[in-house]
Amino acid sequence: MTPFHLMGSDHRIVRAARVSFAKDDLVDRERDIKLLRYLYQNKHASPFEHVIIALPSSREEYFQWVEKITLPTCLVYYAEGYTWLNLRTTINIWELIPEEVKEGLRASLPATISIVEGTEVRGYTVDEQKVMWREDTSSGWIGLVDKLELGTCMDHYTFVVECPLFVARQWMRHRFGSFNEVSRRYVSYEPSFYIPKYLRPQAKDNKQASEDIPMPEWAHFLKEWDRIVKGTVELYNKMIEKGVAKELARGVLPQTMKTRFYWTVPRISLDNFISLRDSPHAQKEIREFAAIIKERVGYRGTDRRMRL
Ligand SMILES: Cc1cc2nc3c(=O)[nH]c(=O)nc-3n(C[C@H](O)[C@H](O)[C@H](O)COP(=O)(O)OP(=O)(O)OC[C@H]3O[C@@H](n4cnc5c(N)ncnc54)[C@H](O)[C@@H]3O)c2cc1C
Repeated sequence: MTPFHLMGSDHRIVRAARVSFAKDDLVDRERDIKLLRYLYQNKHASPFEHVIIALPSSREEYFQWVEKITLPTCLVYYAEGYTWLNLRTTINIWELIPEEVKEGLRASLPATISIVEGTEVRGYTVDEQKVMWREDTSSGWIGLVDKLELGTCMDHYTFVVECPLFVARQWMRHRFGSFNEVSRRYVSYEPSFYIPKYLRPQAKDNKQASEDIPMPEWAHFLKEWDRIVKGTVELYNKMIEKGVAKELARGVLPQTMKTRFYWTVPRISLDNFISLRDSPHAQKEIREFAAIIKERVGYRGTDRRMRL
């Protein structure tokens, strides 16, 4: 019997890493294993945060175990019969991981664990499906990559999201969870942009909000917006052709540019996201994403346990 629950695979780590290059769908066993080794040896650690482990345990066992951890930056959580940690933490406290759990991880994540233990890589596990579902919003799309639901407030979910930069900026303020995002230091492919179908007026009673009223008389602003976006892409492409570094040339690209990221999030943080973003106070574009999440994976109200 498996002594623990696992969300992820060797390839999940590679996917989260390859989103940097916008090549997260690629599967190439040899290159993937090389990349895993590179990530591990060069401390590119965040992709390992998208693999989640839940160990059935009592609260007492959790405390006895945590007492042995000397690493000050170790994130280990307890919720309703399970100790929760991600693979990054697991690797950081490898000597404290029970042998039967190590055995299970060697079987489920053969390439990654071989690299960690310095043994020959013999196997490689791949995600069975890219996404469980995918849905569009007016400014992008969201897909559910995986979930680990045990009925606790620390159940975990991994989403892949494409949205404008200004939405991602709001999203990533939700610190409890892990993100890996495309990097325009690496990619130079033609960017895509969100241009709204209509412009909304500033809300009268709220300094940061809008009123969802289409304003056809502002259609000429949208044309101008489109023209300027195209102009920035032209300038960007010219600079890239001349050899300007991608990390600098990207500076001309506007906030409506689309980005893509993987988001692995515990239920309590997801519920907090839904409460704050599926709300009349949130911007319409992020609210649409929160509404889809709520509809597809539900809101369980676990965030009500947090006062602030
Ligand atoms: C309508 C709206 C307007 C906003 N406007 C602004 C703005 O103008 N400027 C701006 O900077 N941000 C703004 N924000 C972002 C907001 O302040 C939060 O950063 C964001 O909503 C994430 O919420 P959170 O901190 O609860 O989530 P997370 O960061 O995911 O945190 C989850 C929970 O973990 C705990 N936690 C996490 N980190 C800490 C910590 N360091 N110390 C103690 N407890 C912690 C808290 O209990 C927290 O609720 C806005 C958000 C909304 C919804």
